[in-house]
Amino acid sequence: MNILLLGSGGREHALAWKMAASPLGDRLFCAPGNAGIAQEAECVAFDSSDHAAVIDFCKQNRVDFVVVGPEGSLVAGIVDDLEAAGIKAFGPSRSAARLEGSKGFTKDLCRANDIPTAAYERFTAAAPAKSYARAKGAPIVIKADGLAAGKGVVVAETLDEAEAAIDMILGGGLGAAGAELVIEEFLAGEEASFFALCDGESAIPLASAQDHKRAYDGDKGPNTGGMGAYSPAPVMTDEISRRAVDDIVVPTLRAMKAMGAPYKGVLYAGLMITAAGPKLIEYNVRFGDPECQVLMLRLMSDLVPALLAARDGVLKNFDLRWYADAALTVVMAAKGYPGAYSKGSVIGGLEDAGKVENVVIFHAGTKADGGRILADGGRVLGVSALGKAVTDARTNAYAAIECIHWPEGFCRSDIGYRAIARESKTG
Ligand code: AMP
Repeated sequence: MNILLLGSGGREHALAWKMAASPLGDRLFCAPGNAGIAQEAECVAFDSSDHAAVIDFCKQNRVDFVVVGPEGSLVAGIVDDLEAAGIKAFGPSRSAARLEGSKGFTKDLCRANDIPTAAYERFTAAAPAKSYARAKGAPIVIKADGLAAGKGVVVAETLDEAEAAIDMILGGGLGAAGAELVIEEFLAGEEASFFALCDGESAIPLASAQDHKRAYDGDKGPNTGGMGAYSPAPVMTDEISRRAVDDIVVPTLRAMKAMGAPYKGVLYAGLMITAAGPKLIEYNVRFGDPECQVLMLRLMSDLVPALLAARDGVLKNFDLRWYADAALTVVMAAKGYPGAYSKGSVIGGLEDAGKVENVVIFHAGTKADGGRILADGGRVLGVSALGKAVTDARTNAYAAIECIHWPEGFCRSDIGYRAIARESKTG
């Protein structure tokens, strides 16, 4: 079969790498892709926000199946439009993608179905929002309702910060995404990402993962799209995974089906593991980036039939197998990220880095220029490695980074530290 993957980040490189290994695939296309993805797939440059152009491409190139990486396309209804044109597509419909597209929608769904989450209220005007925040006190969390490219959440340590966030969001600082906001209770605990493959009714949990959202070592500095990840996440014990499925994912699937918007695709639950058990922080309707990179390294089974089974609604008896090894990804970003950064610097040493044992280098923001690879984004590379435990995967990943010559880039030096501390305690 011919497959088209939409997206251009590290997540899509990992998906392309895994799908390219499938015996089911004939041609693999990616739009728009990047310099790394070009080693796995035929990159094509069309604007995937133009759904008619995507459909035309699929028809002309006999594409049987489209896999959608980024949330923006899902929330915009790319899956509905492809399916209406008779092309199979992996990912949620527009109405199911509201689980990510509207935080208020998800909070209301949790409330109506007793799904554990932070206490909250929704607001469209600043005055009642501020009086609610004052009544609850700091720390408190202010969230824009819509998609805001990771900038829509402010964890306010003080009421002044909370009020400034309310004014910024409702004042149009995030555009239409901030026409409404959610104010919620601050949850204390350790965060973990929980992924499940869903077919509208059934869910298969994927391996667990944890990421590092802050830019600098020690989880300090500004929030980013993610500076590294590892799998498995020791905080996700079997018991906590079971509760995440039974108390969070399954009731969500049931509720979505009941409202005529069955959820198909990857459901990514951002969880806070509190003293009272896992609570939902947010849903994403696609693989996480860089969590996808570690999951793809650990996945033993063929990805393509799993994605097809989710789309076809036949996951019930499906089984996915995983390598016991741990995986870890260190993101290399352009200096300045997540603020302003420059593009176009040359990245050297990638070939040697890729030869380090058990290492795969996923590209995020790169472009090829003759034989050279240039930085072309904020997050640029995901240096990924397998190892017996997280500690070994980290050793391999940082050994590969030593080979990379890119003075204009930086990375954190402590990815995986929580898991590694646990491993050294248990020996
Ligand atoms: P979100 O985009 O909703 O995942 O939020 C981004 C980050 O803000 C999360 O990964 C958490 O670190 C933090 N966060 C969001 N909601 C809460 C909450 N209710 N309590 C504590 N931290 C939160």
